[in-house]
Amino acid sequence: MGELQEFSNLIGGEFRPAAGGETLDSVNPATGAVWARVPRSTAEDADAAVTAARAAFPAWSAMPAAGRAHFLRKVAEVFVANAEELATIETRDNGRIITETAKRDVPGMSYLWHMAAAECGTAVEGKTVILGPGGMGFTRRVPYGVVVGIIPWNSPISTFSAKAAFALAAGNTVVIKPAEQASVSTLRLGELLREVLPPGVLNIVSGLGKETGDALVRHPGVDRISLTGSTETARVVTRASTDALKPLAFELGGKSPNIVFADADLDAAAKGVSTESVFTANAGQVCVAGSRILVQREVLDELIGRVTAIAARIRLGEPLDPATTMGPIVSREQYERVTSYLEIAAKERAELVFGGRFGPELVDEPYAGGYWVEPTLYSTTDNSLRVCQEEIFGPVAVVLPFDTEEEAVAIANDSSYGLAAGVWTRDLGRAQRMFRDLQAGTIWVNTYRKMPPGLPFEGMKDSGYGHDSVLANTREKSCIVKI
Ligand code: NAD
Repeated sequence: MGELQEFSNLIGGEFRPAAGGETLDSVNPATGAVWARVPRSTAEDADAAVTAARAAFPAWSAMPAAGRAHFLRKVAEVFVANAEELATIETRDNGRIITETAKRDVPGMSYLWHMAAAECGTAVEGKTVILGPGGMGFTRRVPYGVVVGIIPWNSPISTFSAKAAFALAAGNTVVIKPAEQASVSTLRLGELLREVLPPGVLNIVSGLGKETGDALVRHPGVDRISLTGSTETARVVTRASTDALKPLAFELGGKSPNIVFADADLDAAAKGVSTESVFTANAGQVCVAGSRILVQREVLDELIGRVTAIAARIRLGEPLDPATTMGPIVSREQYERVTSYLEIAAKERAELVFGGRFGPELVDEPYAGGYWVEPTLYSTTDNSLRVCQEEIFGPVAVVLPFDTEEEAVAIANDSSYGLAAGVWTRDLGRAQRMFRDLQAGTIWVNTYRKMPPGLPFEGMKDSGYGHDSVLANTREKSCIVKI
């Protein structure tokens, strides 16, 4: 791979630079060095992408489901054939460690596209209703038309796939806008998928949210918008799209509780609430980060001890090195945000259990320009602290004690967010009660951060509404027939 790589938009099957000729730098967050340039697309580019998607829609939506499935399976094969390159790009562009991108993200996407292919037929299924002796009704599910997918920087390959695969399977055509901090894997996928998809069916335009993203959201030719990002952006997008009454789906942030009961397998729980949830898991830059660890008081010290021992073994450094277990923060801006919370925690008098350091002294010299924060754990009994209520989106968690099941539920639900929750217990009755009572769209029991594409992933409260699936990318039409 050369020193500075240039990438283009994919519009109507053609590679195009931004209409204004401008680019954005893509930075390797492990070193702070610019390694690629991507188009800074204008409203003109957004319009060209939507126009191309509109032009491709009639043929793509009219294609028999088996035909669309054939194309989607070819996409799945692209992920297999280019697995190493895609994982490497993703790691270099957003700092996600190679063991995550190579073992989890990219292989998982091949499965997801195969699954979308298998579901192409469900998009046209409907129901028949007998309306007495004189009539009948039937329904049919149809695609929306042009679907815009706006994706974040923390997991571009997976979010790209979740937006594009199901929308295409349902017969929509698609425009994807990757996040400005990490667009390269999506643009590279555009290069690879141009070879396997009909022109205009999938379009990709990179650029800033307030420029390219805003132009897409306001475009009259767009029929559905699916955004994965922050609650703040979802509010801006909602306001921008109100006049056009566009259907929206928002997969947003969280402050998820990971709840450990005294009867749990504490070894599994300690691993589940630390490495798999908020530390090595993309340095806590995951929407479902279990950043509030609720622990039943009688095992509090024991669990903290185990988590501390696990955290001490976490190794920061080159994310492309398989021995590295935690990567950097994605950008300088996000690094400043995460480290500002370390100051907030100190001011709020949250007790520091471990960590709290950040900056170049955490890594070897070649990585001194990167954005490093060590795994950090605070302890408090006050869930109203900002570090307990606000999404930090970094390797920072807070541990809170509780005594009873009811208290655990009350603390867990005392949040503006409702994305996910973890429950660690051997008592299946309790697990069922927690599933019933926790205000979150996804509940994991004795595991965490498993997101099989066959299950809907949908938030509650400030974590958004709507999700990405074949069904969610269709609307239902009714026909009433007089016999
Ligand atoms: P962000 O909201 O800043 O950006 C997300 C996307 O929205 C980017 O592509 C950005 O360019 C675009 N955008 C920004 N302003 C826009 C506007 N005015 N109009 C149209 N598009 C606009 O979020 P981020 O910092 O990239 O990602 C982090 C956030 O995403 C966190 O809150 C995280 O929890 C959330 N997230 C949620 C999920 C999920 O599935 N629930 C998954 C990953 C990340």
